[in-house]
Amino acid sequence: MGKRSQFERRKNDAYHTPASVGRSNRGSGKGITFINEVILTDAKECIEWPYYRMDNGYGQVGLHDGMHLAHRVVCEKAHGVPSFPDAQAAHRCGNNSCVNPNHVRWATQAENEEDKRAHGTWEMRMGGAKLSVEIVLDIRSDAAGGASYEALSSRYNTPASTIKKVVRRHTWKHV
Ligand SMILES: [Zn+2]
Repeated sequence: MGKRSQFERRKNDAYHTPASVGRSNRGSGKGITFINEVILTDAKECIEWPYYRMDNGYGQVGLHDGMHLAHRVVCEKAHGVPSFPDAQAAHRCGNNSCVNPNHVRWATQAENEEDKRAHGTWEMRMGGAKLSVEIVLDIRSDAAGGASYEALSSRYNTPASTIKKVVRRHTWKHV
């Protein structure tokens, strides 16, 4: 199916329920209500999709035109339609079930793969501190507020060289 026909289908779906789908309450259910609330959150922690999940952990939500990936719907509602083709809704946190809008962003497939590798590499103890998305965001926020690498080093029990790489985005580029 070409791009054009997809768009036409989508436009029509806003006004008609295709006979093949039948009448249902999809699109007005708990899932979309949850999404509309979760996109307003400023929570730093992962928010697990509380409804149907596939074996790989991705949540699914029923909209008027069928089932969609929950984190992808969240990404679109929070960050808008992707500006490049074949965009993937990538998790900064590496948690497929997470629908925290602050943990998902549009990425190319290559970037998404890089994110996944980075999670495997960096979610480890470094100098006594387990770096996580939450800690990285805190470190960068503190650095933006004027904290020195040395001050952050003792605050997060992490070597200053590691702090510097995090702040300058030489590591944790995906966050
Ligand atoms: Zn998350």
